[in-house]
Amino acid sequence: MSAADTVTRTGAEDVAWDLTDVYKAPDDPALEADLDDARGMAGRFRERYAGRVASLEAAELEEAVEELERIHSTLTRAGAYAYMQFSTNTADPARGALLQRIQELGASLDAELVFFRLEWTELDDGRAGELLADERLSRYRHFLDALRRWRPYLLTEPEERILSETAVAGATAWGRLFQELVSALRVRLDGREVSLEEATSRLQRADREERRQAAEAITEALAPGLRTRAFVFNTILLDKSIEDRLRGYPSWIAARNLANETPDEAVEALVDAVVSRYDIPQRYYRLKARLLGLDRLAHYDRLAPVGLDHELVSWDDAVGTVLEAYNSFSPDAGRLVSEFFDGRWIDAPVRPDKLLGAYCMTRVPGVHPYVLLNYTGDRRAVLTVAHELGHGIHGYLSQDRGLFNAQTPLTLAETASVFGEALTFKLLLAGEHDRKRRLDLLVGRLDDAVATVYRQIAMNRFEDRVHGARRQEGELAPDRIAEIWTETQRDMLGDVDLAGYETWWSYVPHYVVSPGYVYAYAYGYLFSLAIFRKWEREGETLVEPYLELLRAGGSEAPERLATIVGLDVSDPAIWADGLEAVGDLLAEAEELADS
Ligand SMILES: [Zn+2]
Repeated sequence: MSAADTVTRTGAEDVAWDLTDVYKAPDDPALEADLDDARGMAGRFRERYAGRVASLEAAELEEAVEELERIHSTLTRAGAYAYMQFSTNTADPARGALLQRIQELGASLDAELVFFRLEWTELDDGRAGELLADERLSRYRHFLDALRRWRPYLLTEPEERILSETAVAGATAWGRLFQELVSALRVRLDGREVSLEEATSRLQRADREERRQAAEAITEALAPGLRTRAFVFNTILLDKSIEDRLRGYPSWIAARNLANETPDEAVEALVDAVVSRYDIPQRYYRLKARLLGLDRLAHYDRLAPVGLDHELVSWDDAVGTVLEAYNSFSPDAGRLVSEFFDGRWIDAPVRPDKLLGAYCMTRVPGVHPYVLLNYTGDRRAVLTVAHELGHGIHGYLSQDRGLFNAQTPLTLAETASVFGEALTFKLLLAGEHDRKRRLDLLVGRLDDAVATVYRQIAMNRFEDRVHGARRQEGELAPDRIAEIWTETQRDMLGDVDLAGYETWWSYVPHYVVSPGYVYAYAYGYLFSLAIFRKWEREGETLVEPYLELLRAGGSEAPERLATIVGLDVSDPAIWADGLEAVGDLLAEAEELADS
């Protein structure tokens, strides 16, 4: 089906966003004025505060942070506009150039302003404690406090300078090399060469033979250069072990947990809880094999559609469903969601040269969030609309906190999106009485849950083992990495056939570019499901606390924010609760498949 067909069939073709709430046009003088403003403010900020942060009184410090936030907000708004412009037509060089120009300005202003963070972190605990206790600083207390969490691991100033300057020629450079090597991979399919992305997308095709061929071609494409990519990975592992040792981090994951404002024990509890329920993905993959008519699932069958539902959902129906779902939770939430539709804050259709996928631009200071979609009309696309609108209301409600307090850490960033999906899924399921279509709906939901929770934790187990092995055994041969990869994935996948899968670790950029990142997906998903379950049990009384949680944005650490909805993230029971929700869906799918 071509893009044009999809557009006419869904009725989303005219649903374009209206960016004039931000700037009238790319050549709007207000945009240039904002950039000039940001540049000027940054210069004056540096002149006024550089070398003086330690001597500021509470009121002056408050004023300084406010000014810093204003600079970042101005630039962020311009950057968001440029990015959204670019998203709807990536082939237009002028749009690309504007985005690039603002990004470069951002990098140079960051360098100019970094002194503030450094000087504040260097301030001794006694003085910082006094300042943070001052009421006049209450608005930025968490922001300032959170900046200082790195302090115990900081080295002396000259050491820090050497590390940060040499990183550009170290881990950063190796990371880029890895990404370039992966981007350059070509997969031979149907007598021509395609990108890895195109090849992996074929793993979602309905025809098993096409999936098998794609998988074989990918395995073949990963063979050349494997030793080089393994060497790059080894170097990153070594570099990280050196830096962790110098800074005194107790484990390979400690720095990542600190960035996520999450205690090590909480992450361990999450991982243990998910691993202890590996029976769920294993049962799911057995069910999926049955639905596909196979004795045993191969790794390339995991994302195959079961093909029980082919009806398209029109855009209007999708809007109706999503609105009804949010309204069923709270009329306030429903009203907010309808503002996105009525105010033209959404760009919905599939168009040539538009960025793929979907996102919500939550950081448009002083305006409101926008949502970009590629609405195709399959039922999963309805859940994507609900997902992005969840981000939308989260961003909208927390916006009043200001840029520095609005953004949540990674682990809570998916709270409202997963919640909105769960609401919409519940509604869709309740209205679906046809056995096959109901089963199809459940399978789609389980595909997402397994990929977000179990796959990410199995990937975390791989990282954990591989970092440990590099520290104990020295350089790891490609075969040794493959062994660890296969073992950790088999633990979760059970009897799925993994032949040919041994080298598939070697194209995942996360492992090289952001070590430890992946568990946050599982954290966010299960955290949100735990709130959803609580709402299902307690009803109405949870609505206001939930909206309060969204309004709070990132103004506190995750464990404090969780208490707003009465959850304790240090209690493993909350992970078990979310996992049980997934298990319930699976049980129903199994029952439907039997009947
Ligand atoms: Zn999301």
